Amino acid sequence: MKQKDEKLKKILIIDDDEDIISLIRIILENENYTVIGALSGDEGIKYALKEKPDLILLDIMMPGTDGWEVMKMLHTDEKTRKIPVAMLTCKTDVRDKLTGLQEGAIDYITKPFSPEELITRVNKIFKILT
Ligand SMILES: [Mg+2]
Repeated sequence: MKQKDEKLKKILIIDDDEDIISLIRIILENENYTVIGALSGDEGIKYALKEKPDLILLDIMMPGTDGWEVMKMLHTDEKTRKIPVAMLTCKTDVRDKLTGLQEGAIDYITKPFSPEELITRVNKIFKILT
């Protein structure tokens, strides 16, 4: 179901894989979400501060500042701590999933995902938040 709100929800994707960002962008823009992409943790934090996204999709495995560090930085900054974060990873390790939820992730999306799964999860997150 496409969002009908006048105000479009803004989603920031932080992932070092350009193809993943492009793919998610196509899927979510088609659902009328506004999508911003960041190719590194540091860039992601910058965009989170500047763009005030409604949701962040955060890859765990990234060179440099990885997803866990990004999550910690977002949560310790007053200006970004309330932005919900869903972890995005190809790891299917259950322990990682638990850690993600303990660190305060609102959801955990495992790559590869189908467009339908991504849309369903993102819509559900916004449903929970409103
Ligand atoms: Mg990665």
